[in-house]
Amino acid sequence: TSNCSLKKTSFSNIPVSKGEFSKTNYPHSRELFTVFRSTFGLHDFRPNQLETINAALLGHDCFVLMPTGGGKSLCYQLPAVISKGVTLVISPLKSLVIDQTEKLKSLDIPTAHLLGNMPHEEENSIFTKLCMSEPGLKMLYVTPEKIAASMKLGQILNNLHCRGKLARLVIDEAHCVSHWGHDFRPDYKRLGEFRKKYPDVPIMALTATATPRVREDVLHQLQISGTKLFLSSFNRPNLLYKVVPKKGKSAMIEIANLIKEKYKNLSGIIYCLSRNECDNTATFMCNEGIKAISYHAGLTDSKRNDVQMKWITNKVNLVCATIAFGMGIDKPDVRYVFHYSLPKSIEGYYQESGRAGRDGKTSHCLLYYNYQDMHRIRKLIELDDSGNFESKKVHMQNLFRIVSYCENKADCRRTLQLNYFGETFDDNKCISNKETACDNCRNKAAFKYIDVTEDSIEIVKTVKELCGSGGGSWNNNFTLIHIIDIFKGSSNQKIKSNNHDKLSLHGRGKQWDRFDAERLMHKLVLEGYLREEMVASKVDIINAFVRVGPEADKLIRGSIKLKLASASKNKLNIETTSKHTNTPVNNVLKEIQEKCYENLMDVCRGLAASLNVN
Ligand code: ADP
Ligand code: MG
Ligand code: ZN
Repeated sequence: TSNCSLKKTSFSNIPVSKGEFSKTNYPHSRELFTVFRSTFGLHDFRPNQLETINAALLGHDCFVLMPTGGGKSLCYQLPAVISKGVTLVISPLKSLVIDQTEKLKSLDIPTAHLLGNMPHEEENSIFTKLCMSEPGLKMLYVTPEKIAASMKLGQILNNLHCRGKLARLVIDEAHCVSHWGHDFRPDYKRLGEFRKKYPDVPIMALTATATPRVREDVLHQLQISGTKLFLSSFNRPNLLYKVVPKKGKSAMIEIANLIKEKYKNLSGIIYCLSRNECDNTATFMCNEGIKAISYHAGLTDSKRNDVQMKWITNKVNLVCATIAFGMGIDKPDVRYVFHYSLPKSIEGYYQESGRAGRDGKTSHCLLYYNYQDMHRIRKLIELDDSGNFESKKVHMQNLFRIVSYCENKADCRRTLQLNYFGETFDDNKCISNKETACDNCRNKAAFKYIDVTEDSIEIVKTVKELCGSGGGSWNNNFTLIHIIDIFKGSSNQKIKSNNHDKLSLHGRGKQWDRFDAERLMHKLVLEGYLREEMVASKVDIINAFVRVGPEADKLIRGSIKLKLASASKNKLNIETTSKHTNTPVNNVLKEIQEKCYENLMDVCRGLAASLNVN
């Protein structure tokens, strides 16, 4: 049962295998099920596992695309046990290799690994086993570096092949062959030669890569164009996705309280942007009594290994890390992954949050978002001298996509993520799962679309007058926040001194919820009607000044309709620009009103459900 559909598959000449290999009466089937139950101790196959195993045992090349935690290992481990000879597994990470070898040994499957700096005797004893007329190993794990470096290993593989004892080549984490992937390994590239050398040995490549471009590249590099393709849905049904507004310093307290309340002594990761932020977050959490530790590229190799071990063995619960942490770490029981700073792309977010819940149990992925974090990342991209113009453009596009994702209040998070990878997804599957439905699906009834075309035109016109389009000419420098203040009809000092309370835009959005007004401005930036110009300042403050964007004229000409998903709580709208704006009482009041509204909506939804209407 292949549970996936691709909207625009780029593997145009390779059909996705669907049900082709799901039979249970192949000559190998009886042994297959016995080994599955008694050696591996499992009962039910996950999607595409049985199909892949069958295809492999029938001698086909296989390309397996399955999300993290989907159970890729079994797809080659089980055939290895049944096949005659030795299965060679290439895996990029030492820790993973050691992990897997130990696990297989504990299942009584004769397995060994060869790594860079092993004692000679140990290495020789493995070589001896491989040279036996009936090799004493079923599986051999190696890193790609080892294959490239060891002549001896090359000779032994040749020898195994001559004797017909080389059962299969497995390339785990196969995205490492691609420049486009997030973890390119030069030595993986040479694996393409394997096919020429041993044309009759089947290959299995596996990866959790979701992007079509990388998938295509992997196929091409490994020269396995005649392969069978197994493509699973990349939906992770056990993960709950939620975007949480990040309100300055109080966000940290909020997170600490949440961890103490919900994830006490459970494993988790908080992703931060900088080394400093990792250290500070870890210190803060420790002071709150949470067993936390910091991890980033500034630490020595041995220190980083140490952190990893402590976390894997549950001596610490929480790692506060940059995105350098996690690739290839196989910890099944990660119960939460929080992003304290904005991810750099939707793909990055999918991979990083995907480290939660590999064991299939419910786990939470919270993204703490504020718009200003985008400016921090933008600055990094713009200051990065290594990137050329093209790559900067791609980085910016990726960044805008993830910001749009965060600003989106209407569409299912899973749909947004999976569409990005070209997979269609029916959001009913999200809504129907009570435990892990995403925030937007949960709030569906609370939001409605409003037409914001006229307001947007007025905003863009005003920006055009006040700030121009940048690009060399003299401009007035105003921030988005200032434009929002005008729109909301604020009469603060800056507005008055610039006579901006005389503008026709002033107060046009008086009735608007401040949060919605911000989201509208962000939307106008993300869709190119407005633009923010980053202006370097001497101190470490990022100034982003608003200009009209490349799409502005199209909007002003009236050829575009704009809609915004808005919380339909107009009746309860509070004027937030009054001089009481930030008094605690007003905030509390607002919170209470919002809660009331939510409860009311719950009641309505319940009623609607019982009456079977929407
Ligand atoms: P991947 O490599 O795709 O990320 P793994 O092969 O590491 O995933 O498997 C993830 C977890 O799921 C492991 O703990 C594994 O033992 C478990 N697993 C795999 N297949 C099954 C199955 N059919 N039934 C139960 N658990 C499974
Ligand atoms: Mg794996
Ligand atoms: Zn959803």
